[in-house]
Amino acid sequence: MNTEFESTADRVVIIGGGPGGYEAALVAAQLGADVMLIERNRCGGAAVLTDVVPSKSLIATAEMMEEIGRSDSLGIRIYDSEGDDGDTVIADLKAVNKRILSLADAQANDIYEGLTRAGVKVIQGTATLADRDHVDVVEEGGTEYTLEASTILLSVGSHPRELDSAKPDGERILTWTQLYGLDELPEHLIVVGSGVTGAEFASAYRALGTKVTLVSSREKVLPGQDEDAADVLEFVFRNKGMNVLSRSRADSVTRTEDGVEVVLSDGRRVEGSHCLMAVGSIPNTDDLGLKTAKIKVSDSGHIKVDGVSRTSRAGVYAAGDCTGVLPLASVAAMQGRIAMFHALGDAVQPLKIRHVASNVFTAPEIATVGFTQSDYRENSTDIDTAMLPLDTNPRAKMLGIKDGFVKLFARRGSGSILGGVVVGPRASELILPITMAVENRLTVDQLSASFAVYPSVSGSLTEASRQLHRHL
Ligand SMILES: Cc1cc2nc3c(=O)[nH]c(=O)nc-3n(C[C@H](O)[C@H](O)[C@H](O)COP(=O)(O)OP(=O)(O)OC[C@H]3O[C@@H](n4cnc5c(N)ncnc54)[C@H](O)[C@@H]3O)c2cc1C
Repeated sequence: MNTEFESTADRVVIIGGGPGGYEAALVAAQLGADVMLIERNRCGGAAVLTDVVPSKSLIATAEMMEEIGRSDSLGIRIYDSEGDDGDTVIADLKAVNKRILSLADAQANDIYEGLTRAGVKVIQGTATLADRDHVDVVEEGGTEYTLEASTILLSVGSHPRELDSAKPDGERILTWTQLYGLDELPEHLIVVGSGVTGAEFASAYRALGTKVTLVSSREKVLPGQDEDAADVLEFVFRNKGMNVLSRSRADSVTRTEDGVEVVLSDGRRVEGSHCLMAVGSIPNTDDLGLKTAKIKVSDSGHIKVDGVSRTSRAGVYAAGDCTGVLPLASVAAMQGRIAMFHALGDAVQPLKIRHVASNVFTAPEIATVGFTQSDYRENSTDIDTAMLPLDTNPRAKMLGIKDGFVKLFARRGSGSILGGVVVGPRASELILPITMAVENRLTVDQLSASFAVYPSVSGSLTEASRQLHRHL
C-alpha cells in the first residue's frame, strides 16, 4: 500500500463511511482532492446498516398495517377464506426483516460503488488519529500503515448506550440494532425510553400487532419535542391500546424463564416477552487517538466543533453523531459537506441548526422546523402562532385522518415565518414549504398567496398562514 498520495492535490483522509463521511468524500472528490475513506464495517455506516434505513423500512410495513387497520372506516371489509368477517392480516416478521436487511445491504453497496466511481479510495479497516496530519490505519487483513493528510475528517458515529442493569443479550433484551434478527413478532414488547427512537419502535410494533408497553421516565413521551404534538401522540398511543407508563424509570431488566422482567424505580414490575432498550447513544470516540492529537471533547465524549465543522486543531474536522450537534443523518451529511467546502476553499455557509427540519416517524408523524413552542413561551409578545387541527381539513376527512394539526410561528409585525410543526400521516413530506419559508424568510402573506391544491392536507398550511395575516 502506497501510504502517500500520488498527486499534489489536497489530501483528504476521512475516518468513518456513514452519511457524515461519505457525503464529505463525494464533495472532496468533486472539488478535486485526493480522498481516502477508512471504514471498519461497511459504507453507509450505522445510518444504512442499523438505524435509518432498517427502521424506516420497518415503519413502511407498519404504515401499511395501519392503513389496512383503518380501512374498515373507509368502507372496506376484509373476509377470510370462508367468506366470513376476518382479521387475518398479519405481518410476517421473518419476511419483513429479510426485506429490510436486503434493502440495507443494497444501499451499502450502492454507496460503496458511488464512492469508488467518484474516485474515492475506500479502505476496509480501522483508523486512529496519530496527530493533526497523520492517520494510523489497520486494514481488515492486519496490514498497518500511516497516511499523511492535509485535511482529516472524523465522522465515526455513535453506538447504543447500554445499562449494566439491563444488558442486551440479542435475544430478549435488545438494542435497536438487534431487532432485525427476530423471526417472529414479540408477543409483548416493553420499550424502555420514550425519546424519538423508543417512540418510533413502540409505534411500529404496535401497528404490526405486538402488545407494547412504553416505559417513559418523563411526564410525556418525546421529551424536547413540541408539547402539543407529544400530547396527540400519547393520546393516539393509548387509544391504540399501548400501555404508556409515564414518570416511570426502569431500574433493571432481566431474563425470566420465557421472557423479560423490567423493575421500575418505584418497585413496580412489568413482564413481557422482549425488551427494547432505547436509552440514547454514545459517540465512538474512545479509542480514536483524540487525546494524543489534542482534539477537544465534551464531558459526554463528543468532539467539539464550530459551525463549519472545525475541531480544536487546524486541519482536523468532525461531522455527524460523534459531534453531538444534532443526531440526524441529514445534519451529519451537511456537516461533512460544509467541512470539505471550508477545508478546500469553496464558498461555505455555517450550519444553521434553526433551519434543520426533522421528523419523528411515528403514526401520526411529527415534523418540525425552526422556532419551537418553548421559544414561543419565552417570546410570546413578539410572536404570533396559529394551530389548525387536521380534522377540519376536507382532504384529511376524505382520507379518514382524525389526529394531527399544523402549527405556524410568525414574527409579529413583519409576519416572517419562524417555524412550524406538522402532525399527521406523511408530515415529513408536508414540512418542506415551512422549511423553505424559514430558510428564505418568507412572510405569512407570501405563503398564503401560494396556491394549495384543493382538496389537500397542505391546504391547512396556507389556511394557518391566512389566520396569521395582520391588517396594515
Ligand atoms: C433507530 C434510529 C433511527 C434513525 N432514523 C433517522 C432518520 O429517520 N433520519 C435521520 O436523519 N436520522 C436518523 N437517525 C440518526 C442517524 O442514524 C445518525 O444521525 C447518522 O447515522 C449519523 O451519521 P454519522 O456519519 O455521524 O455516523 P454513522 O452512520 O454511525 O457512521 C459512522 C461510521 O464510522 C465507522 N467507524 C467508527 N469508528 C471507526 C474507526 N475508528 N475507523 C473506521 N471506521 C470507523 C462506523 O463503522 C460507521 O460505519 C436514526 C438513528 C437511530 C438510532
